[in-house]
Amino acid sequence: MNKYRRKFVELFGLSCLSVILLPYNLLYSATKKIINPDLTEEQKKIMFEESTERPFSSSLNNEKRKGFFHCANCGAKLFSSNAKFDSGTGWPSFTESLPGAFKTKIDTSFGMKRVEYHCAKCGAHHGHIFDDGPKSTQKRFCNNGLCLIFKPEN
Ligand SMILES: [Zn+2]
Repeated sequence: MNKYRRKFVELFGLSCLSVILLPYNLLYSATKKIINPDLTEEQKKIMFEESTERPFSSSLNNEKRKGFFHCANCGAKLFSSNAKFDSGTGWPSFTESLPGAFKTKIDTSFGMKRVEYHCAKCGAHHGHIFDDGPKSTQKRFCNNGLCLIFKPEN
């Protein structure tokens, strides 16, 4: 009897633990959420359906002022202007993000294996990271301009 009781307590303990951990796990995986009610249809398509804007369509390609680039959905600070460079690809490009700004995932669509990155705070898709960046980091964060809001210094 004692043995069964112990087993029961063990199992009960385990299920309690998973009930406690479940919301935590859900919260962790279900990060995608629209926070900014003013996002346009095109922005939503890129940020939540993994679409890509037309190259050379973003005015941020030519943005050269000092400042920070923020997530257009949640406002998180993602890139410093110090990391921006002209990649010639037609999308705003950066050598590195601010620490902890993004979470990455492997994207295998279009028969390619690419590293896709999402805003760590709201889960919005921003772009892909390639290994052909400038010497400093060798990384190229290829970001959709529509996902970014630039805030100049001062
Ligand atoms: Zn965000």
